[in-house]
Amino acid sequence: MTREDPTSLQLPLPGSQRILQIKQIPIVLLSLWLLLLLIPLSVSIVAFAGHISESAVIASLHQKPSIKQSISSPTPRSTPAPMPAPIEPFPQTLAAQIATLKAHDRLFYQGNANLPEIALTFDDGPNPTFTPQILAILKRYHVQATFFDIGRLVELYPDLVRQEIAGGHIVGNHTWSHPYLPGLSLNAIKTQISQTSAIIQQVTGTRPLLLRPPYGSISSATLTAINSFGMTTVIWNDEAQDWSLPGTSVIVSRILQLAGNGAIILLHDGGGNRFQTVAALPAIIEQLRARHYRFVTMAQLVADAHLPKPPDVKATPTPVPSRNHPQATPVLWQKQQERMVVRPPSPRAEHRG
Ligand SMILES: [Zn+2]
Repeated sequence: MTREDPTSLQLPLPGSQRILQIKQIPIVLLSLWLLLLLIPLSVSIVAFAGHISESAVIASLHQKPSIKQSISSPTPRSTPAPMPAPIEPFPQTLAAQIATLKAHDRLFYQGNANLPEIALTFDDGPNPTFTPQILAILKRYHVQATFFDIGRLVELYPDLVRQEIAGGHIVGNHTWSHPYLPGLSLNAIKTQISQTSAIIQQVTGTRPLLLRPPYGSISSATLTAINSFGMTTVIWNDEAQDWSLPGTSVIVSRILQLAGNGAIILLHDGGGNRFQTVAALPAIIEQLRARHYRFVTMAQLVADAHLPKPPDVKATPTPVPSRNHPQATPVLWQKQQERMVVRPPSPRAEHRG
């Protein structure tokens, strides 16, 4: 049995008319196709306009380019979002630089004290042993976090970084080789930053907007270099010194004691044995959620920096002071951080930050 042309079956016409009819079919189909094309196109235009509108609101709210990163696609993109411009003129002295960066939302020790938001941050990865365990826990609890990755490790373990992005997390820049930045020249600091941003962009398709200097150590040259890339510096105000392996319960209790609205929690997924950090993470998440805190990425914490206090805030804004932990409150810790900025790291601080 042979298959016949369905057109000839439906059009039993004389030769010339049949040719004419067959010629008209593509025109009819083309018209229908154009009609069908216009409907989704108009929907796309509306959606695009909505996106522009949302971006414009965020940008106007903070009077700077939106730091919200695209986390929807784990595959590299060829057209990354433009980087924010450097602040110009940029002051010369460290104190003035810190004040200027804070005023422009380019330097954070903590987030909005009015909101029960907390950012979990993990430094010194990616690590083939511990990063997957951290990612699995975050996925189980539906928590989005921020990873400050070391460039040379991104180069070694690119799949882990793609998994971080695929999990909805933010990947930040933690320099190429984790040096003490205040001990380097301006050009050497810039190289540490630019090489790391380049490898992260190559691996994930997204150029990092956030940077955490190793050990939380900053200097005038460090901030000048970071500003030249238009990046935002993220320190922290809640940590447990998990790198010193103080014990799982100690890590949990230290984090909980310092936690408050807008807390930036420092933990580590790399730089050494992090089994205690992995073991502590579920309890940290569960107990902070029991206090009505919600976990956000650093990008979200930055975007929410100036939102007013909502009427239904349930979380306790003041952390419980601890006799056992020298940094009793985020405020004290923040001041200590600012005093530490030009001090070399102690040997025990090898993996801190
Ligand atoms: Zn570090």
